[in-house]
Amino acid sequence: MASFLTMMTQNTTTDKSELPFIPLAVPHLGGNEWKYVKECLDTSWVSSAGLYVDRFEAKVADYTKAGYGVAVVSGTAALHIALMTAGVRQDDEVLVPTLTFIAPVNAVSYCGAHPVFIDSESQTLNMDISNLTDFLENECHVRGGELVNKSTGRTVRAVLPVHLFGHPTDMDILYQTAQRYGLRVVEDASQSIGGRYKNLMIGERGDITCFSFNGNKIVTTGGGGVIVTNNEAASTRARYLTTQAKDDPFEYIDHSIGFNYRLPNINAALGLAQMEQLDGFIKRKRAIWEKYAAKLTDIPGLRIINEAAWAFSTYWTTNVLIDEKGFGTTARILALALNEQRIQARLFWQPIHLQKPYKNSQAYKVQIAENLYKCGLSLPSSVGITDEEIDRVVSAVRNKQGNGKCV
Ligand SMILES: *Cc1c(COP(=O)(O)O)cnc(C)c1O
Repeated sequence: MASFLTMMTQNTTTDKSELPFIPLAVPHLGGNEWKYVKECLDTSWVSSAGLYVDRFEAKVADYTKAGYGVAVVSGTAALHIALMTAGVRQDDEVLVPTLTFIAPVNAVSYCGAHPVFIDSESQTLNMDISNLTDFLENECHVRGGELVNKSTGRTVRAVLPVHLFGHPTDMDILYQTAQRYGLRVVEDASQSIGGRYKNLMIGERGDITCFSFNGNKIVTTGGGGVIVTNNEAASTRARYLTTQAKDDPFEYIDHSIGFNYRLPNINAALGLAQMEQLDGFIKRKRAIWEKYAAKLTDIPGLRIINEAAWAFSTYWTTNVLIDEKGFGTTARILALALNEQRIQARLFWQPIHLQKPYKNSQAYKVQIAENLYKCGLSLPSSVGITDEEIDRVVSAVRNKQGNGKCV
């Protein structure tokens, strides 16, 4: 993002550089942030002990209707510890969607485990559970009481669904499938706090769910994450591992290799103030989506992603799919055109099985995810975006329609 901003501000050759920049998703600090952080400074409770850490954990667990919350320094750290807590070990395999931000896949690697990449589906952009079931049915067998991947001989331990862009994965069939095959489930809800599946909050029914509070997420702690679970033993284990695995803090006795992943109080203070505003943020995100949806109709080759009948999406970002044939140009060319007008539109992530660190990993019949990568685009969706700015994005999209050749 820094280099992108630099690039944008260096573009002084045309008067386009005078246009106000419309970012993709930036924090909105409109509540008690200043007050709570100041209290940390005034009282010297700035580090990883302090009341705000407890209050923030409780707030996230309460909001998501999960039993317990453990605050950590990042969403990635949350995933690492959640996987360990779920029992993922060296040389195990974890099933992940290939269309995702790379962090959950890296967390699998931190455990010494291996990802197996599953395809996505184009309605919700999340993991395609039929592709997952297909893999489990045809590529795995039970040996010595464990589910084993026939082609690698490794134990398949867990499935890691990623709820993208504020929208849940189809949970009933996911959990049914996981149960049938004895798989643990670790949910990556980094982008989707406040989203619902059939009136259940994301995190409410799950085994173990991770949230991120990075700067571009709907609510932020500056940087941070929370693990939520309904399982008390899992929360105790997660807390133990994230706080240096102290077995006897007086004698300094440790029975495990722990991590220094505890969230500092200052960040938790920021996070608590943000959580207090989450309902309002979601309302605004959904209104932003509605405005885009109303204004981007009747454009050939452009499809706006909307929520499934069984879902409540927070619409962290509004997303569109651009079909080159119908629209007249590619998502890439459209993104560049928007960026040139100081509108930060962003392509979806390159599927992880195509990326250098994972190109030798197994990817099971992936096809849709590659198409989504080709066609997908996220539009500016900050809580603070104005209706006029949305209009500017919409006209920029309409102006590019049918324009420019594919390279
Ligand atoms: C942001 C994000 C993460 C990582 O969170 P950090 O807090 O940045 O470590 C993990 N998974 C997904 C899907 C994300 O979007």
